[in-house]
Amino acid sequence: MKETIETDVALIGGGIMSATLGMLINQLAPDKSIHIFERLKDVAEEASDAWNNAGTGHAALCELNYTPEDAKGVVHTDKARSIMEQFEVSKQFWAYLIEQERLANPKDFIRSTPHMSFVRGDKDVTYLKKRFKALQKSILFKEMQYAEDPNIIQQWAPLVTDGRDNTEKIAATYSTLGTDVNFGAITGALVNSLQKTGKAELHLHHEVKKLKQQKDSRWLIKVKDLSSGKKYNVLAKFVFIGAGGGSLELLQKSDIPEGKNMVASP
Ligand SMILES: Cc1cc2nc3c(=O)[nH]c(=O)nc-3n(C[C@H](O)[C@H](O)[C@H](O)COP(=O)(O)OP(=O)(O)OC[C@H]3O[C@@H](n4cnc5c(N)ncnc54)[C@H](O)[C@@H]3O)c2cc1C
Repeated sequence: MKETIETDVALIGGGIMSATLGMLINQLAPDKSIHIFERLKDVAEEASDAWNNAGTGHAALCELNYTPEDAKGVVHTDKARSIMEQFEVSKQFWAYLIEQERLANPKDFIRSTPHMSFVRGDKDVTYLKKRFKALQKSILFKEMQYAEDPNIIQQWAPLVTDGRDNTEKIAATYSTLGTDVNFGAITGALVNSLQKTGKAELHLHHEVKKLKQQKDSRWLIKVKDLSSGKKYNVLAKFVFIGAGGGSLELLQKSDIPEGKNMVASP
């Protein structure tokens, strides 16, 4: 007969999403048991690894796609403000975890890095100026600076202006509030801290094959230990699919109605 692990929470995938949710659950309900299943030999080896993402703390300071311009030429800032607010909450959560000694040195995972947007040509300069003015209405973006003067832009980003044709129209915004984040380091530290509670267990090199909800509403999860080849079952009251690129397949296998409409993009 197959071995069965019973748990309150099963987290599939050992990236920043599972690690963060695990920590939130542990903060709110410390008595709940958590099992994390990661198919690779360590956590944060895929998208969350520092080498596999740009490490930008997305706060809408430099991402122009968060401030679309409509057909009438109005620049909308709702999404930018919402993303900035969410990132502020992330920073507060990390600061709280440092106070609680659940994360150690912030320099291990977050650093100040100015965030800039740079554009060329009349159309894009007009857009950036409108974007800047619209963002200035929110206290969250008040410290952002705007310049069209190449001498100022040169101080912000010398390599971008060096050797550039002086007649070309350019503009830039500059924010000192930008951050560079090592999501892999946060993941490792969060999982480590969870394991120390004795309520969380990490299963490395264990792949989730499929999952199905039972009549009693618990989830039956089929797991394979990739080192030994052994297969076993997990029964969990709550399951989170944080499997990055592997999530889609598991969602489809889960048979939940939302999974049925999920298709991989070509
Ligand atoms: C090129 C690039 C640049 C990026 N730049 C930024 C940026 O600048 N700023 C930013 O905020 N975000 C950025 N991102 C996005 C960010 O990296 C991801 O959103 C984030 O890391 C996703 O975390 P995750 O936990 O969902 O997934 P992952 O970190 O991918 O973790 C998923 C884990 O699930 C495991 N897994 C998969 N299938 C199974 C299975 N069946 N059983 C068990 N385990 C399984 C995988 O091995 C993996 O470890 C970037 C992403 C990329 C690709």
